[in-house]
Amino acid sequence: MNDLLDRPVQRQPIDVLREVFGYDSFRGQQAEIIDHVIAGNDALVLMPTGGGKSLCYQVPALCRHGTAIVVSPLIALMKDQVDALNQLGVKAAFINSTLSPDAAREIETRAVDGDIDLLYVAPERFATDRFLNLLDRISISLFAIDEAHCVSQWGHDFRPEYRRLDLLPTRFSHVPRIALTATADTPTRKDIAENLHLTDAQCFITGFDRPNITYRIETKGNSKQRLLSFLNREHPEDAGIVYCLSRRKTEDVAQWLTDNGRPALPYHAGLTQETRQLHQDRFLREDGMIICATVAFGMGIDKPNVRFVAHLNLPKSMEAYYQETGRAGRDGLPANAWMNYDLSDIVSIRSMVASSDAPEAQKRIESRKLDALVGLAETTKCRRQVILSYFGEDQHQPCGNCDTCLEPVETWDATDASRKALSAVYRTGQRFGPAHVIEVLMGRKTEKIRQNGHDDLSVYAIGKDIAQPQWRSVFRQLLAMGYLQVDVEGHGGVYLTEESRPVLRGEKVVEMRMDPGESKRAMTRRLRDFDTEFENEDDRDLWERLRTMRRELATSQNVPPYVIFSD
Ligand code: ADP
Ligand code: MG
Repeated sequence: MNDLLDRPVQRQPIDVLREVFGYDSFRGQQAEIIDHVIAGNDALVLMPTGGGKSLCYQVPALCRHGTAIVVSPLIALMKDQVDALNQLGVKAAFINSTLSPDAAREIETRAVDGDIDLLYVAPERFATDRFLNLLDRISISLFAIDEAHCVSQWGHDFRPEYRRLDLLPTRFSHVPRIALTATADTPTRKDIAENLHLTDAQCFITGFDRPNITYRIETKGNSKQRLLSFLNREHPEDAGIVYCLSRRKTEDVAQWLTDNGRPALPYHAGLTQETRQLHQDRFLREDGMIICATVAFGMGIDKPNVRFVAHLNLPKSMEAYYQETGRAGRDGLPANAWMNYDLSDIVSIRSMVASSDAPEAQKRIESRKLDALVGLAETTKCRRQVILSYFGEDQHQPCGNCDTCLEPVETWDATDASRKALSAVYRTGQRFGPAHVIEVLMGRKTEKIRQNGHDDLSVYAIGKDIAQPQWRSVFRQLLAMGYLQVDVEGHGGVYLTEESRPVLRGEKVVEMRMDPGESKRAMTRRLRDFDTEFENEDDRDLWERLRTMRRELATSQNVPPYVIFSD
């Protein structure tokens, strides 16, 4: 006698796809995954944002008997999905904190009566006695765990409530489980599989490549002006997203774009719920709307014709960069991922990592995720290759359309310059920011140099042969390569790492990318700004918060945070 739960399939997947969802054919591995789940097997699906993960559990939910339970982390996302499904005539509902007790009871009754095909639930609701009792009374077709990286500390969005899902395999051992995420780095993947007991499940990793997205990363200054020229040149009427690090900057950039004739709205967690909803709705509805946002924006936003994603700061990890840029071009038409970043981004993200109250092991992981992204920003190779190999796809050829492919990066032998830079950092006491050290190298006569007696040092003026912009590029790359680290307690002072020793001793050759030229005036202004960057109007609130965090950290721990970075 067969297991009662392996009853025959009601409908064929392809019919469901066409009749319910109105699509012609499955994409990539969707059909395979769907067949696998319908047959009652477990699956771990790693598919990039926009790849079409939802159908991988929605179609099986309509093919198998019973109600599919979908665990989903964001309430807004849940409502959108359920609304969309209802419009297609699918019996879907959600249970979360926004429902009144009466409304929740009504949904529960419908579920027990078998009148719901997909029931979405928030993770914190899931493990409640009330919900588990409900599950005991309904016939369950499958469990789908969306955004499954939330189960992992190594993921970028850890949710402790996801840990309770470990009760699924024991309590509902006969029900297939499908976990889905766009985050595929190895530690996260392993963690998801272990926590959700999916170590024996089939893992589907489908193409992370987004061939229609062109990647460009530049490091030149006045990012707002450059953003505007980029938009006016290449996207004069398009909708897109501009990511910034601080809340204030999102508002500032939105205002600046508006002043310059581009409709733009800010979005960050500091705005009221109504404002955020309004701005999101306008972005989805209006043509050519630009949203200037912090990382708070994006999860679950389904706008196919986002033509560009711009970053005015470095995101905090390769995953974040991939997810955020992945919101461009979901319709498959050409789209741009454009980033303008600077040395100070590395400093500020390192500081944020260091001053968070996360455990040290996690900080180290985060630090490495940032390193991977800085490596991408500073690479001389094809950007696409670097991204895909990070996600475990090593077989790709240079793409031929990212900036490094179109304009191959020239490299130069920076061994001597690196030795000079590192010596100067060392001789000045490893507590000054790059801007000051560069002035020492160049033999400038500033007040700060005189006060500290740095004009008496042997390193004074040994770097006159190299122009200021190039020194700045050298320091950025030394940071990217891990030969220098930022001392977050010392407000951005840099110090040497263990790895820098062979370089200092002249035992190691250092190749660096040659940055395209930049106007001298712009460089000078940017350099001058570096020491005062922490005071910049743009980021003042951010830095205020950082300082507070740092103060708290300093009083609560006796280990200086920079130790974290010298593992
Ligand atoms: P993900 O969750 O992986 O980020 P979604 O499931 O939200 O992606 O799907 C992204 C978009 O792709 C949606 O607009 C969805 O309707 C569309 N889509 C998914 N699969 C197909 C398909 N087989 N044919 C056409 N469109 C699809
Ligand atoms: Mg999704």
